[in-house]
Amino acid sequence: MANIGEVVSSAAAIAKGMSITLKELFQPTITEAYPDGPAQLEQRYRGTHVLQRDENGLEKCVACFLCSAACPVSCIYIEAAENTAEERYSGSERYAKVYNIDYSRCIFCGYCVEACPTDAITHGHGFETASYNTSTLIMRKEQLLAPFPNANVGEGGRLPRLPQAGGAAPSQTNPAPAGAEPILPIGTR
Ligand code: SF4
Ligand code: SF4
Repeated sequence: MANIGEVVSSAAAIAKGMSITLKELFQPTITEAYPDGPAQLEQRYRGTHVLQRDENGLEKCVACFLCSAACPVSCIYIEAAENTAEERYSGSERYAKVYNIDYSRCIFCGYCVEACPTDAITHGHGFETASYNTSTLIMRKEQLLAPFPNANVGEGGRLPRLPQAGGAAPSQTNPAPAGAEPILPIGTR
């Protein structure tokens, strides 16, 4: 009798699974046109990070290192510096002079975003990071910074996307450090 019970429960499980398959068969087909068209990503998609600015264009990052400490794979590298009256980058005393994320190690867990007290670091929707040279997967602050307010803001209230093909234009207020490697457009790596 026990065997009959198992057969019945197995048949019911198969019928349940097949009913879902049959139901999906009659749903409209959704075809992604990517890469010929833009990829359709959910709002919550965790892509490459964006370092946000406040409404005045100042960087929200205050170089507190909490994101770096929270990162389980230690792929965030930060060097802090003091703002001065002549050169102000953030609204606090300190700012991140260097802020690198190594995307050959990042697992997009979101812990850094959770840890940030100023909402400075968020996940954007960038995902076209594939490269044959892993050294190009280290993205610098100049590549991660959000555009200035009202400049190239993403559609539909989405977070600004990282520049992809064509590369990121270094911020005028954050020139690359002396001796730094040039930022290469992703499509040319
Ligand atoms: S998403 Fe996770 S792995 Fe990537 S930088 Fe943030 S904490 Fe580190
Ligand atoms: S991104 Fe946020 S958590 Fe990381 S150093 Fe800047 S302010 Fe601190």
